[in-house]
Amino acid sequence: MSKVFCKRQHIEETLKHLQEAGQRGNECVVLWFGRESPMGIEIEAVCRPAQVAGADIFRIPPPAMREIIGILAQHGWMIAAQVHSHPHEAFHSLADDKWAIVRHENALSLVVPYFAARTTAFSFMQDQKTFKLSVGNRWEELAAWEIGKWLQIS
Ligand SMILES: [Zn+2]
Repeated sequence: MSKVFCKRQHIEETLKHLQEAGQRGNECVVLWFGRESPMGIEIEAVCRPAQVAGADIFRIPPPAMREIIGILAQHGWMIAAQVHSHPHEAFHSLADDKWAIVRHENALSLVVPYFAARTTAFSFMQDQKTFKLSVGNRWEELAAWEIGKWLQIS
């Protein structure tokens, strides 16, 4: 069990990045850095990594990945979850499966539809779709009622 605990300010910061990119017609990926605790994983920072992004794609180039790994080591953080935007519906594409940065068991990947243009910190939980990496290394969509077991916003 590794439930992710996230503060509202982290959601607001995440949405700001997604919306800014969306205004330029681009997807955006944001990483949530957190620390493991007996309770689960507490998010402590939101990172918008350097990325190559288009209307339906994103990649983090190797130098940016190296920088992220350095930051994680320095703070004792892990990448608890990744959040990215889509121009239209929220789903996990084959590219999303393949290029996911988070890879640990029960890792979370959140997808926000419509470049987050219609999403606020209050509607975030309803608007986004949450995918979780299963034991068998498959990304599975969580049903609305399951999300609260894995992600809690305070
Ligand atoms: Zn995607």
